[in-house]
Amino acid sequence: MRYGALEAGGTKMVLAVADDQLHILARESLPTKTPEATVPRMLAFFREHPVDALGIGSFGPLDLNPLSAAYGCITKTPKLSWVDYPLLPVFQRELGIPCVLDTDVNAAALAEAETGAAKGLKNCVYVTIGTGVGAGIYCEGNLVHGLMHPEFGHILLSPHPDDPMPRGVCPYHAGCLEGLASGPSIEKRWGVSARELPADHPAWRLEAHYLAQMCVTALMTVSPEKIILGGGVMGQTQLFPLIRRETERLLGGYLPPVRDTEKLIVPPSCYPDSGLIGSLLLAKRAGEEAQ
Ligand code: ADP
Ligand code: ZN
Repeated sequence: MRYGALEAGGTKMVLAVADDQLHILARESLPTKTPEATVPRMLAFFREHPVDALGIGSFGPLDLNPLSAAYGCITKTPKLSWVDYPLLPVFQRELGIPCVLDTDVNAAALAEAETGAAKGLKNCVYVTIGTGVGAGIYCEGNLVHGLMHPEFGHILLSPHPDDPMPRGVCPYHAGCLEGLASGPSIEKRWGVSARELPADHPAWRLEAHYLAQMCVTALMTVSPEKIILGGGVMGQTQLFPLIRRETERLLGGYLPPVRDTEKLIVPPSCYPDSGLIGSLLLAKRAGEEAQ
């Protein structure tokens, strides 16, 4: 079997083909332009490198309800040319193979659970903190879907009393995680790109406070054995100890198994390919189900 992966991002599309041991045989990256410009190039890649099943890990939100008329479509997105785009139906129709679609972060959670930082564990949460904030949830062998899929970036937080921008930047909600802790929110709050802020800037204490609130919510709801934090902003690795200490402080000793968050709150092992490897694993699942 040959498996195909498409990691569909707002900036770039990463495509790969792998054998059944998931060794990558070919790989390509394309800029995300309009669907009319980008989709034919992606289809051409999979025609040049034929696969038996395809996994797509995509930016969203996505309609993942198999009973919905819009199943497999991107729904609302700031990338306006992709609003309502039927991503899964187009690949299914054009390639005629089993295809499966999930969120980029659910794909990343799957990769970490099956091959990475959460290997062998029952539950994990993968969070990306980048241009947006999103989380994938792996729960007892399954990726969580339901009404939609997790939209953890929009959980509501308590603003820090010293935050000069407590409303955040989300156009939909005051004080949501993405609005308070994404890369663009850091830039808006401090007037400098997150990448350029020094490691000892007060921005990181605030950031850790918000990400720790998210970790506490994850621990209290999903009961993950690992919380994996990835995305561009986590390139500031000094955040990890700050988030761990703040999570312990906010937990207040309430969860007895959490004595030490050193092994609980960790970077991804598959970085920067968590989403791509997860998409290959989705393809493998789809290929095996079709047999
Ligand atoms: P995307 O979310 O678009 O897929 P990234 O995960 O790279 O891409 O996130 C981009 C965001 O992360 C930008 O807002 C950028 O300022 C921020 N970022 C990237 N690298 C760093 C870094 N080393 N330190 C802090 N912020 C960073
Ligand atoms: Zn929001």
